[in-house]
Formats: sequence, C-alpha cells, structure tokens
Amino acid sequence: MGLFRKSRYSQVGTREIKDVPKNIASKCPACKHVHISRDLSQKMKVCDRCGHHFSLPASQRLRQIIDHNTFQEWDGELTSLDPLEFPGYAEKLDQVREKSGLSEAVITGRGEIEGQLVGIGIMAPEFMLGSMGSVVGEKITRLINRSREQGLPLVIFSASGGARMQESIYSLMQMAKTGAALARFADAGLLYISVLTHPTTGGVTASFAMLGDINLAEPGSLIGFAGPRVIEQTIGQKLPEGFQRAEFLLEHGFIDRIVERKEMKKELARILALHQGGEQVG
Ligand SMILES: [Zn+2]
Repeated sequence: MGLFRKSRYSQVGTREIKDVPKNIASKCPACKHVHISRDLSQKMKVCDRCGHHFSLPASQRLRQIIDHNTFQEWDGELTSLDPLEFPGYAEKLDQVREKSGLSEAVITGRGEIEGQLVGIGIMAPEFMLGSMGSVVGEKITRLINRSREQGLPLVIFSASGGARMQESIYSLMQMAKTGAALARFADAGLLYISVLTHPTTGGVTASFAMLGDINLAEPGSLIGFAGPRVIEQTIGQKLPEGFQRAEFLLEHGFIDRIVERKEMKKELARILALHQGGEQVG
C-alpha cells in the first residue's frame, strides 16, 4: 500500500481563499493590543506595538520571500493517505485541506530571492500545526535532492509541532530520510539556510531544521524538541526564564542570528550573494 497520492488541491492554486480574513480583529498575545486583521496582514503579521511575530500562513510567507512571478512549485499534488487507518485521520485531512486550501503541511519549489535562484521549502503552521508525516518528509527530501541536482542553494522555513502521530513510524523515519538527503547535499558543497519560526519542535527540530549551514530564527520563536512542561516533569526542576525561545538559543550557540520578519528577505539575499562570491548587497 502506498503512502500518498495526488490530490485535487494545488498547494498554491487556491491561495486566494486564505487571503480573506476570517476574523475582523486579532489580539496580540504579548501586549494584548487589538489589531484589525487586515492591517496586521499589511504589516507582515508583526505587532507594531511590541514586535510580536504572529504565525504566518505558508502562502503569505512565500509572497514575502520569493520575487513576484518567479516561483515554480514542486510536488504540489502530493497528499497523505492513511497507511495505518488511524481513527479519524482521513476525515481530519479532508477538513484541513478544505479549510487551508493546501494539500499538505509544506510548500516546496524553486524561485528567486532578489534575483538569486534557490530551492525553497515553507512549512504551513495552518495545516495540522505543520506536523511532519510521510508527505512532508518526502517533499522536503525531493526538494533537497532536486536543489542538489540543479546546484541551487536551499532555504527552508520551519514551523512545526513535530512528527505527525497519526502516521507513527512513517513520520519518524522522515527524520533519518531528510537528514541523509542533507548529508549528500552538504557533500556537494552547497549552502543550506534553515529559518526557524514559531514554533519549531519535535522531529522537525531534531532533523532538517537544525542542520542548516546557517540557522536563523524569527524573534520570540519557541524552538525545542520536547516541550518545557515535559522537561520540567522529567528532570524535576524549574527551567530558566525564556528557555527554548530564539533569544535563549542564540545566547547558548544553537542558532546563528535572529532576524525580524521585515528584514528576512534582505538578510537571505545578502547571505546568498556572499556565499556565491558575488557583490555584497545591502
Ligand atoms: Zn503586541
């Protein structure tokens, strides 16, 4: 039995659905300011009072990062089957596909960042919390392999609750599969930039998200393997303030730089240009 099939949904073809704000207002969880949802979208979904970065749907992030009309999607038609016949999973997938307009929890393809061609993967927190099942792992692996074959630098934005429990071991094996593909990618001498966004946890943190040559993060992102509550209960100790936040990880050497959303495209373009030995931009 196969693990996935082609879907009638396209990953980006139905993106217009998601541009219509479902709620009129959104409250900032950090400073409690109430924003008009449409205004917030125009500000890249960043609170202008306190700088809090709201969760960003994958298609919006794609538009923020990739130059207009340069994106070519790969494997947009792949969608999960229900290999373990997990109770309720097939129905849940149908609902999420309908609501999000996506066929799975990651968009992959190639496109340009300020005129520089890259392989790009963007995880979708709005699709089952960006969890990694067989299709997410397969799409990421194909993205890495195609980028290697085409000699492209690779950029992956992670946002994930971890491995998708409804696919159990099929989800967990994606960690080894993506890791192996990245090892071959590194052997080819190509650049991989990983961008960690809120939240990046579980099997995604423990595989491709932390394997970048350069690991960037958005401010305030929760990044970790097990959640803080689980760790506290396991070790029987209180965790330090800010544990598992991007700033804490930067201080302890796990990530290389924190980049605000409004600066992200410019920063990626700068790193890509430097790596290619071209002119420094910005
Ligand atoms: Zn705020």
